[in-house]
Amino acid sequence: MDNKEIIKLNRKYNLFSWSVQGAIYPIPMERGEGIYFFDAEGNRFVDLSAQLVNCNIGHQHPKAIAALKEQADVLTFAAPCFSNSKKGECAKKIVDFLPKGFGKVFFTNAGADANENAIKIAHYYTGRSKLLSRYRSYHGATAGALALTGDPRRVDAEPLIPGVVKFLDPYCYRCPFGQKEENCHLECAKHFEEVVQYEGPATIAAVFLETVTGTNGIIVPPKGYLPKIRSICDRYGILLVCDEVMAGFGRTGKMFAFEHFGIVPDMVTMAKGMTSGYAPLGAVAVKDEIADYFEDRKLSAGLTYSGHTLSVATACRVMEIYGEEGLLRNSVILGAYAKEKLQALQEHHPAIGDVRGIGLFIGLEFVKNRETKEKMDDASMSAFKSANLKDGVYHMTYSNLMNFGPPLVITKDQLDDVLAVLDKNLAILDGACN
Ligand code: PLP
Repeated sequence: MDNKEIIKLNRKYNLFSWSVQGAIYPIPMERGEGIYFFDAEGNRFVDLSAQLVNCNIGHQHPKAIAALKEQADVLTFAAPCFSNSKKGECAKKIVDFLPKGFGKVFFTNAGADANENAIKIAHYYTGRSKLLSRYRSYHGATAGALALTGDPRRVDAEPLIPGVVKFLDPYCYRCPFGQKEENCHLECAKHFEEVVQYEGPATIAAVFLETVTGTNGIIVPPKGYLPKIRSICDRYGILLVCDEVMAGFGRTGKMFAFEHFGIVPDMVTMAKGMTSGYAPLGAVAVKDEIADYFEDRKLSAGLTYSGHTLSVATACRVMEIYGEEGLLRNSVILGAYAKEKLQALQEHHPAIGDVRGIGLFIGLEFVKNRETKEKMDDASMSAFKSANLKDGVYHMTYSNLMNFGPPLVITKDQLDDVLAVLDKNLAILDGACN
């Protein structure tokens, strides 16, 4: 089949996620190799957002594929109530990556149901009903996870689950409290405590945070913010859940992003990079005291495919690849390199309002005017994205934001090629500035 036939077949029989069906151009993707994917006619594209910021080890990694095939030859499926060597090994590997005090892991299908199960566990363990989360967040598309989600994608599906209250973000580029870095007093953390007070601390089971916000603009919390949130949670017996579905597994240069900020959450939800997309899998890791609580109480949770056997076996191997190939170090070094180069581009491209991020988890925020910070319009964003695609670079955009999150196996030369394409096509966005 050629590209046109593939698109035609898919458009006829498939419904696509998050899209107006009649207005989409689903890029045909038939083959992958490292940081690249190829369409049916052999055209090559750099996968600058690692698909959905999940394919951290790159496409078609031979070690991951061997693990998947090896498991397929032995046993493809054991139901969640069975024990299995790979399931145990996979959970142990995760616990070993986490700080002391994290005892156990509950496996899920992916990220949304990791959050879904963290909600249940928080309810069971605390006996409280309310949940807090932030506006600039995405936690998944199932009812509970979407209710936690702050971004407007939740609105079409409302009403979702009750009892979720939102608060404002530590979004320094557009500080909701009108502050600048030099006079910031972490008003965002004070605001969180105020919301807790208004809602009644004894009613709140948990607060869910993307440790570093992903889809909604790669927001890295300012120094001191997360320790403040941690101490407010401790004061009121509220569980702190770090959603590391996107930020985890080396994306920020550490295995988990919370390690940058001197805090330890009570639960960590994860998915994406755990298998890097070679099979679907998610997990909730819980502190010992939470795990112990369920020793003599029922944990009412689970799906047929939670912790699928092919997925945990693949994850075991994928998690080894991070260490074997120095991917965390690559994320630190090449992330710093890319950020510096992007900041240099900002000097002669007025459309780049902000470049921010940590490791190879970088966001660009485009504006029409740096003074007013008026957001770049959708038509210009779409023209920019199409021009990059034409030049062999695929990336995600969301509103006026671009996600610069390549597979962690990217090299400096490959980054330089990408930066040259962006430099050229940024003229499109500069032309829309006023
Ligand atoms: N949490 C975060 C931070 C995410 O970025 C995502 C997906 O992008 C999810 C949860 C949902 O994960 P999934 O799509 O695997 O259900």
